[in-house]
Amino acid sequence: MLVVMQEGAEESQIQRVIDRLVSMDFIVHRSSGITHTVLGGVGPVDDVDPMQFEVMDGVKECHRIVSPYKLASRHFKPGGTRIKIRDVEIGGNQLVVMAGPCGVETRDQIEAAAQKVAAAGAKILRGGAFKPRSSPYSFQGLGEAGLRMMREAADRNHLLVVSEVMDQTQIPLVSQYADILQVGARNMQNFNLLRELGLVRKPVLLKRGISATIEELLLSAEYILSGGNYEVILCERGIRTFETSTRNTMDISAIPVVKSLSHLPIVADPSHGTGKRDKVLPMARAAAAAGADGLLVEVHHDPDHALSDGAQSLWPNQFAELMAQLRIIAPAVGRSL
Ligand code: PEP
Ligand code: MN
Repeated sequence: MLVVMQEGAEESQIQRVIDRLVSMDFIVHRSSGITHTVLGGVGPVDDVDPMQFEVMDGVKECHRIVSPYKLASRHFKPGGTRIKIRDVEIGGNQLVVMAGPCGVETRDQIEAAAQKVAAAGAKILRGGAFKPRSSPYSFQGLGEAGLRMMREAADRNHLLVVSEVMDQTQIPLVSQYADILQVGARNMQNFNLLRELGLVRKPVLLKRGISATIEELLLSAEYILSGGNYEVILCERGIRTFETSTRNTMDISAIPVVKSLSHLPIVADPSHGTGKRDKVLPMARAAAAAGADGLLVEVHHDPDHALSDGAQSLWPNQFAELMAQLRIIAPAVGRSL
């Protein structure tokens, strides 16, 4: 149930609607927009007549939402969600680029990456300290030592930090060092992790599962939102199809689809989306043109010797070229970089 209050509705009128929803066993989530307050009622009752809210003072309209997700739905926040972290805003006018190595490997490696991506115009340093690897014998990440190195490199280069949490026990540790908590594709439906992330007050970057539909992605976001954490950034990172020429199939159409279904920002990861360095730039261009709010790109100072995902990691000069091209594309779709 979504109740849209009139422009300038009084606090007492809003409160009466909240009380009414609560008395009907709805859990109420409030979104205070610039002009309208929207109340999202998530509850067990399906057959409530919206009219009984529409006649209340201060109410503009009331809708029963039939989509399985409510708080992630575009109706809940028609103007879109903007997530502000220090001087960076995701979901606003700016196309925000997050870049760095797949994994943090050494102090020198993460420092080199931070310097190069910052110089090219990235705002956020990416890098995993806990790596979900298909094989237990592959590099698993440096853990806390890696997080510390990444934070220091980011601070020296005026960057924010995004890093992955693989399970709920890692949330307190990763939160100490990272500005955004990443949920990897393999964990998109780890519901215990999602529920815990609903309780933290830090933005979450939620990657689309390898075989997840867009509806499943939005339902996973709903887990986090329904816990009270409204700062979720979605990420299209390619899905598994019958095609074998690329590591995954980059679903560019997911960007406009998500934009119409949801108010949440969406970024694109052309590195995992293609798995091949020479395909990253064209897919980054396509994602920006399709309306992505940002990009997540793997960059390594020596990709041939990277401990993970070297084949899809850009050389720093290729990343600088990517940024130069985005600077041309962004204004064509009403964005700045
Ligand atoms: C990553 O960002 O390095 C990563 C492991 O991504 P994904 O979860 O999309 O495979
Ligand atoms: Mn990777």
